[in-house]
Amino acid sequence: MGRLDGKVALVTGGARGQGAAEATLLAAEGATVYLTDVLDDEGKATAKACGGTFIHHDVSSEAGWNTVVDQVMGEQSRLDVVVNNAGIFFSRALTEMPLADWDRVIAINQTGVFLGMKVAGKAMQAAGNGGSIVNISSVAGMRGGSGAIAYAASKWAVRGMTKVAASELGRYGIRVNSIHPGAIDTPMLQQVPGIEANRERTVRRIPLGRIADPEDIARVVLFLASDDSSYMSGAELTVDGAWMV
Ligand code: NAD
Repeated sequence: MGRLDGKVALVTGGARGQGAAEATLLAAEGATVYLTDVLDDEGKATAKACGGTFIHHDVSSEAGWNTVVDQVMGEQSRLDVVVNNAGIFFSRALTEMPLADWDRVIAINQTGVFLGMKVAGKAMQAAGNGGSIVNISSVAGMRGGSGAIAYAASKWAVRGMTKVAASELGRYGIRVNSIHPGAIDTPMLQQVPGIEANRERTVRRIPLGRIADPEDIARVVLFLASDDSSYMSGAELTVDGAWMV
């Protein structure tokens, strides 16, 4: 018996990296999984591998969110778990940050999560089964750090929006929590200046002595998605091997 038997889950950015690991684990635990992404080939391959359904979806588009949630509700008549995982990283010094790149990071990382909670939250409310929304922030949503002005702004916003949503959706039995990963071995890590070039130095600074696998985060997503966390809402879980303590 799976921990998510009978549940319907939606994972954004599910084509690769953490999203793929999350979709795969939720499906293995019995959920009917929809995974969405802008990467069609990788998304279809991941969906095929885990027995899920892929939908092309740009999380920064409200029309896109309406289409995705309409399809899920039309096919399943319920939506129990939403993992707002899609995100991009962009590094530039504060004084050199182009406005267009700032806008792009905010549109995907921040507005994407807002739209997900708005559109999916409304459908979950109407379905009346309660549910769990898991927002993937970052340790960059808990501290500063050079070169991450837009990324940090978006991830701090996810942390704050999580608490507003938890407050508003609690009365419908919908829980909303955020996860704050540290260094996770995915394609995104290669874009973080200094980490890939100085992997050994990064590992030495992490008390648990390793960079995490995507599955390390997927297991925490499963916990928050399942009834094991039935009284947790508005919480923030740092999953960074004690990197930032
Ligand atoms: P990744 O780059 O491998 O995966 C991100 C996924 O999001 C990709 O499949 C990408 O195509 C998708 N995506 C990007 N823009 C999109 C859009 N507009 N609409 C839909 N999908 C879109 O990176 P990852 O590490 O798996 O990242 C997952 C989440 O974890 C992100 O929110 C990221 O910010 C966060 N995070 C990552 C790390 C890390 O070290 N890798 C650390 C902290 C937080």
